[in-house]
Amino acid sequence: MTDSCIFCKIVSNEARAEIVHRDEQVTAFRDVHPVAPTHILIVPNRHIESVGTLAAEDEPLMGHLFTVARKLAEEEGISKGGYRMITNTGTNGGQTVYHLHVHLIGGQRMRYPMG
Ligand code: 5GP
Ligand code: ZN
Repeated sequence: MTDSCIFCKIVSNEARAEIVHRDEQVTAFRDVHPVAPTHILIVPNRHIESVGTLAAEDEPLMGHLFTVARKLAEEEGISKGGYRMITNTGTNGGQTVYHLHVHLIGGQRMRYPMG
């Protein structure tokens, strides 16, 4: 837990969010500014700043996070049509909240090019 981190506060229920999944390792909630019909953020419960600070022992955690993403996509009804998952890392990556998160975005055709 990091006192000033909004996603830590959502994980610990100190801040409100529309939670769609919660277990011992990860929490998923709807993005406050959705860019598509489905826009969910999936975060590790433990504060990890970004992909840049992941450790080798976090591999099972990140695998679990992707399994949760797949299940949420199925629940949201976007599996068949397809979806996009994005993790911004650092300034050039466009990261604005420094608690690692994966965006799960779907329900419409995504635009290209990225970058
Ligand atoms: P980033 O730019 O770091 O990849 O993504 C941060 C995301 O978090 C943005 O899409 C932003 O809309 C979302 N976000 C920021 N603050 C909050 C919040 O307090 N609640 C929720 N639900 N989403 C937030
Ligand atoms: Zn945090």
